Amino acid sequence: MKVTALRAGRSKNVPLSAAVYGSASDETIDIHMFMFVIETAGTRIVVDTGTLSAEYVRQHHAYDFVRTSSETPESALRSAGIEPDDVDYVVNTHLHWDHCSNNFLFRNARILVSRRELEYAIAPLPVHARAYEKLPGLQAPWMSAWDRTEAITGQQAICPGVTIVPLPGHTPGSQGVLLATESARYLLAGDAIGVYENWHAPNWRESIAPTIHTSLIECYETFEFVSDLQCEVIPSHDHRIAESALFETATSTPAGEAARV
Ligand SMILES: [Zn+2]
Repeated sequence: MKVTALRAGRSKNVPLSAAVYGSASDETIDIHMFMFVIETAGTRIVVDTGTLSAEYVRQHHAYDFVRTSSETPESALRSAGIEPDDVDYVVNTHLHWDHCSNNFLFRNARILVSRRELEYAIAPLPVHARAYEKLPGLQAPWMSAWDRTEAITGQQAICPGVTIVPLPGHTPGSQGVLLATESARYLLAGDAIGVYENWHAPNWRESIAPTIHTSLIECYETFEFVSDLQCEVIPSHDHRIAESALFETATSTPAGEAARV
């Protein structure tokens, strides 16, 4: 199994308080966008698909967003040897604009989204409408691949060693992807854990919910669930994630055995 984090742009100088609930720090961070690619036993899976152009993001989301020519989704994928038409599955950890705006690129993929997330994305609370681009004159980005989008409920194994797990709280239908190799387990956590400060960062005594959430209680129940998984957590937006292969193993779990949750 090989898992790669592809850089897909970043929002510069975002207050840490935008990511860590209740933070009184005046520190700013860059919020990086990643597309994660999982390659295992002939199956290609993309987890989250990033944003549209930097101009579009600056116009509609008021972030100081930048993206180099090598960080466009097409360039990033091809530099990793991935043709969008060859991707078998797309998993959206949730349907915020920065996680699903390029779903349309993957013309042959099954796109797996939580049923709870789809329901909420259709009618979010007003305070969350922009995050889903549920705005006059805009089409919600996940709808660009509406015909290939499948609603899933609860845990779902995609292939040996790769299992979708619910991680609600940031949004009602947030989900992550648990990866099991022979030597270790990893969790692509989506925005349930957007940066390491939400989890177990140095000098932080406890996990702290993401600032944007639909249920604070579910955020903390999700932290307990993740802790029980005993896996290495890979946040969705943290600059400390390496650009190159996150990890690669010669073999994954034995054929037919899904990641045990
Ligand atoms: Zn989000």
